[in-house]
Amino acid sequence: MTVRSKLMVGNWKMHGSLAANAFLLSDLLSGMGGVNCLAAVCVPATHLAQAQSLLVGSALALGAQDVSAHESGAYTGEVSAAMLRDFEVRYVIVGHSERRQLHGETDIVVAHKAQRALAAGITPIVCVGESLSEHESGQTEAVVKRQLAAVIHSNGHCISEIVVAYEPVWAIGTGLTATPEQAQGVHGVLRAQLQAATAQADRVSILYGGSMNAANAADLLAQPDVDGGLIGGASLKATDFLSMLKAASR
Ligand code: PEP
Repeated sequence: MTVRSKLMVGNWKMHGSLAANAFLLSDLLSGMGGVNCLAAVCVPATHLAQAQSLLVGSALALGAQDVSAHESGAYTGEVSAAMLRDFEVRYVIVGHSERRQLHGETDIVVAHKAQRALAAGITPIVCVGESLSEHESGQTEAVVKRQLAAVIHSNGHCISEIVVAYEPVWAIGTGLTATPEQAQGVHGVLRAQLQAATAQADRVSILYGGSMNAANAADLLAQPDVDGGLIGGASLKATDFLSMLKAASR
């Protein structure tokens, strides 16, 4: 049986400044003693250079929040996977619900983004999750399976290299959290779908995201298929994020 190290990823979204980032990263780095899980922060593209230089040689990996579905060319405003690689980006979030909802990203676009990341040697963190109305009408399983199926279809040969994040949309930034049992139920469904696609499905980390915080992290992380967290708001406070990293290090 594969033992997966827990992976805790902060998603800073469109927050931060050069001054605020310097304080946050310095507080995080000075509090990492005793942390033995994998950890990363996904910073805005404009702050990759700063974060790269502050994190070099540390146990905190660098991540980005999005990547272009295109390799290069006339795509104003886009950032390619190769450009992220130049900053030694290790992870990139693809298909976050805010990108799907606010920027019209389809399952196919998300699958292509994952493909670009993998081709550049960057681990895509593929977000899946149902909306409140889908949740209430019992469609959770169908929605997350459809979203993951598109990524498996385009990336079948290297699907064990991805990270999946189950993020129920109704839990993101709302203070509502899936119960540990709800999260495990969906993670189990995703694990089974990965097992049908690859003999190495046990290697894939499946993170939970949606109002994970210092108080609820340990219970969520105790579930067998909850391999870590994708954390928005609580990752912007060093003490909270560090306490979650410690909960993942037990
Ligand atoms: C997220 O942005 O992926 C997220 C889970 O946000 P929050 O932790 O604030 O709900």
